Amino acid sequence: MIETTGYGYGTDVGLLRSGNEDALLVLPEADVLGVADGLGGHAAGEVASALAVAELREALTGLAGAEADAVPGALAEALQRAHARVAESGQERERRGMGTTAVVLHLRPGRAWVAHVGDSRAYLLSGGRLAQLTRDHERLGSLTQALGLGVVRPDVAELETGPGNRLLLCTDGLTNTTDEDDIAELLATGTPQEATDALVLVALQNGGLDNVTVVVADAR
Ligand code: CA
Repeated sequence: MIETTGYGYGTDVGLLRSGNEDALLVLPEADVLGVADGLGGHAAGEVASALAVAELREALTGLAGAEADAVPGALAEALQRAHARVAESGQERERRGMGTTAVVLHLRPGRAWVAHVGDSRAYLLSGGRLAQLTRDHERLGSLTQALGLGVVRPDVAELETGPGNRLLLCTDGLTNTTDEDDIAELLATGTPQEATDALVLVALQNGGLDNVTVVVADAR
């Protein structure tokens, strides 16, 4: 189980939006963290990200006990379950077209897995260098994959980690406002919760045009 000092998380509606369509997944008993960014307008985006997180929580609750070889499949299957749940709810007329991104992290000593759909991202900070672990499912500014819409094929990445490595999960409310040098510098600062708070704050200072959600976790 992740120590509570080993991670931080935060979300903010931003300065212009009336609602927060982002959602957080915090499941320390399964060493799982995640973020989701709903789309669909009005209340639908909030419904989509909340439903996806609820389904992921249920699907991943026993992940800490899984064999390492089974982790990528379990993460992909959980995202497919969330996809089906959001798609089903999206049949209702007022929710037509709703969907959500999701990026999920599973941490173990010396190892981490990242699974995602959409343009919410994961980064690794190692030796002061920031590396993006996810490739956006996006073309010409539009999402090519989102939970609840069409067909999804989650990407799952596995990486070796060590003490001093730090992982970041975030919605595009951070990455659309803040360049990677600034992200790297703030991510390296203080405890995971202090780094989280600094990253949410800089997104607001850079205009706060969108909801912003951040998770920071120290690798073991
Ligand atoms: Ca967003």
